[in-house]
Amino acid sequence: MKYDCPEALPISRNEFSQIYLFRNIQFEKLAGFLLGCSVINYNKDETIINPTTSTKAVYILINGLLQVNVESEKGGTFSLTIKPGQCVGEMSVLDDVAPCATIIAKEKSKILYIPSDIALSMIRVSHELCLNFLLMLSQRLRTNNMMVCDEQYHIRCIEENARIDPLTGLHNRRWLEDMYTREMQRSNIGNYKLTAFMLDIDHFKKINDTYGHMAGDQVLISIAQTLLHSLRPSDMPVRYGGEEFTIFLPGTTDENAKIIAERIRRNMENTSITLPNGTILQITVSIGYAERIENDTVTSLIERADKAMYYAKENGRNRICKNCNDGKFELII
Ligand code: GH3
Ligand code: MG
Ligand code: MG
Repeated sequence: MKYDCPEALPISRNEFSQIYLFRNIQFEKLAGFLLGCSVINYNKDETIINPTTSTKAVYILINGLLQVNVESEKGGTFSLTIKPGQCVGEMSVLDDVAPCATIIAKEKSKILYIPSDIALSMIRVSHELCLNFLLMLSQRLRTNNMMVCDEQYHIRCIEENARIDPLTGLHNRRWLEDMYTREMQRSNIGNYKLTAFMLDIDHFKKINDTYGHMAGDQVLISIAQTLLHSLRPSDMPVRYGGEEFTIFLPGTTDENAKIIAERIRRNMENTSITLPNGTILQITVSIGYAERIENDTVTSLIERADKAMYYAKENGRNRICKNCNDGKFELII
């Protein structure tokens, strides 16, 4: 850091005219104040302001480039760049609170240093300077508001992505816990019908073993698509685990559950999946389902659908089985 404090004015008339804070202000009006200011030259990577040691002053960048790094107590951070003509440190002058950012010279930088008392005196005599401060602060506020909005949007995206299975695009167990619980509560309170399906791909291990894991993944993607096309918008499909899918069907009668299960089973059976090597696969699924009973929980309802699915497996696969909720199972197909 090199101080350059001549007896004459620290900046030229031309440099004065490039400073945003001095817009619409005559050089002569502030020249007297500038005599009490100095120019400081900083080398690349030198710290200009840091929250613990800096004195309160307005730092105006004449040439070079600065980086502002703000860090909250909770660990949140953001950075922005300051270009020639812009300033830093002015908030601490206005509110008399220590700066909350660290400011570093990104390249060799020349700064006009205006001590706090001189900056405040300048504001007192110049309405234009006051307006320029307000304009600059409102622009900062706008930028910060936009940054907060963007941040909120990113947080929402991250939260939403955490509830989606990246392979199939279906919702995952995390979503299920939240949404199925809500649906179960709604159905228990209103005594609405609710049916749970458990669907498992038949002999899926053989696909992986024969054609490789990538082929298995392709099958999973295709199965998820067929599932979506076989359901109504109100149905709630979830990739439950590896090659198992659950569906909550709110407001579904037993007769409709049969129709929907059979539609899914048939659509799966009729879908041809072409692998990159040209092999065409035909996949089948086994489906078990159960209806909600009084005081059911998400876990107990899914468990009964799962038992029915195993019954369908034991009875030959590519089948549909209903858990009759009395210890008995009924093979539908
Ligand atoms: P069943 O008819 O009795 O259901 O037999 P199955 O072979 O389908 O069942 P099993 O439980 O023996 O095998 C399931 C296989 O699913 C084993 C596992 O490697 C595979 N798997 C689980 N998740 C994934 C995945 O994300 N991608 C791929 N490619 N395979 C997966
Ligand atoms: Mg399985
Ligand atoms: Mg399986």
